[in-house]
Amino acid sequence: MENVRVRFAPSPTGPLHIGGVRTALYNYLFAKKNKGTFVLRIEDTDQNRFVSNAEQYIKDALEWATIPYDEGPGKNEKYGPYKQSERSSIYQEHIERLITTGKAYYAFDTPEELDKIRKQAEEDKKTFSYDHTNRKELKNSLNLKKSEVNELIASKHPYVIRFKNEPGKVLQLEDIIRGSIQIQTDILDDKVLMKADGLPTYHLANIVDDHLMKISHVIRGEEWLPSLALHYQLYEAFGWKKPKFAHLPLILKPVGKGKLSKRDGDKLGFPVFPLEYTNPDTKEITSGYKESGYFPAAFINMLAFLGWNPGTEQELFNLNELSEAFDLTKVSKGGAKFNPDKTRWFNQQYMQKVAYSEVQPYILYNLQNNKIEPNELIDKRIFELIKDRATFPQELWSLSTYFYLAPDEYDAKAVKKQWKENTSSLLKELSKDLKGIPTWEAEIVEQIIKTFIGNKEIGFGKVMAPLRLSLVGSLSGPDIFQIIEIIGKEETLNRIETATNKL
Ligand code: GLU
Repeated sequence: MENVRVRFAPSPTGPLHIGGVRTALYNYLFAKKNKGTFVLRIEDTDQNRFVSNAEQYIKDALEWATIPYDEGPGKNEKYGPYKQSERSSIYQEHIERLITTGKAYYAFDTPEELDKIRKQAEEDKKTFSYDHTNRKELKNSLNLKKSEVNELIASKHPYVIRFKNEPGKVLQLEDIIRGSIQIQTDILDDKVLMKADGLPTYHLANIVDDHLMKISHVIRGEEWLPSLALHYQLYEAFGWKKPKFAHLPLILKPVGKGKLSKRDGDKLGFPVFPLEYTNPDTKEITSGYKESGYFPAAFINMLAFLGWNPGTEQELFNLNELSEAFDLTKVSKGGAKFNPDKTRWFNQQYMQKVAYSEVQPYILYNLQNNKIEPNELIDKRIFELIKDRATFPQELWSLSTYFYLAPDEYDAKAVKKQWKENTSSLLKELSKDLKGIPTWEAEIVEQIIKTFIGNKEIGFGKVMAPLRLSLVGSLSGPDIFQIIEIIGKEETLNRIETATNKL
């Protein structure tokens, strides 16, 4: 394949939705697979929607999700700057080219004038769009005399610059995921390329930058598909070679129809943003995957599968495996339903594989809160024993408290069922045998307890269930002999004594 260069081009208008992260991920995977370059470009030409902390949020989110970019603002700015607000003169130069070649024109109609026309159209049960059918009657450089145009510009009359759509053609658009799409140019309007504030619209800036940054493949959300016809025409107007295009399917709500929104997350209790976000104006805080305890590797594995799958049974992929397996042509056309249960499942799966260092901060935090000295060897062993019951690292403490602290209460239901009249005396008797054990190891303890039960000729559960209740406070938890070994002889005997006194 040619030299692959792809870009993720977010607008810093707020926190990055997970759909945006997926777009970044697919671009990244495609670049890696093809030994190409992944570029981050900040599309910040819309001053009305600009949010001050959004660019940093985007960078932080990509970093957390382990999706690094090769070039971007402040990094290898080979075809930079990579922030559109710093490229105004470039857009100016290019729009002038389109004016000169007659592909674009000045439009002096004020917003009020256009509003009036729009309202009139509505009354006539029509919709107004600025296009080849009516542009001859509007206030633009296609109709005004050259001197009038110059005068309006000189007098600082506000204007926009519009693309002069060419009717009567059929465009054949190609999309890697969707195949060929035919569009009649008759139905297209004359889109604004340059706004009255002198800044380019998305369309102009995007095309100019993709060309100058030598982007080979444009991989972006489906919401941009309707713009593709204009983009094709812009490439042709400039006389440039087009990149290849791929429009990714939407991420849909878990229930009902439509795009996954923040509201769905609030309602069903899952984040739709990678990181927690504080709105700089309202100070409203929105939850993030990171803070909710998702592992970055689980998060990107889950995202990769929202709209793509390898066509095999394998579901767990690390980033490297993803970039090897990823295939843009296997991305689905239809929307991908977000599944919160599946998302949690990925995290639970990764919990079984993570290095202890990834969860250690959570464990240390709780130990410190409870004034318990950490002991990495033992803490890690405890983690290994309980991790299969955990989905999030926040759950690790409650799943392992009894390793560190004696239970302060006992599961009442279990006590009622398992603590019989003779239970206390049985356990007291067992304690005597346990006291005599010289080396406190799980297998030895197990042997002693089994011998004790054997000699008594009673059911296993008669001893094991109350023993677990005494040590853990409930009937849950991993192998009891491991628990006994870890908490130690003294603590085991103490807990049995406490339970036999209390119950
Ligand atoms: N700035 C656009 C966005 O935020 C980029 C779309 C594109 O990739 O062309 O979605």
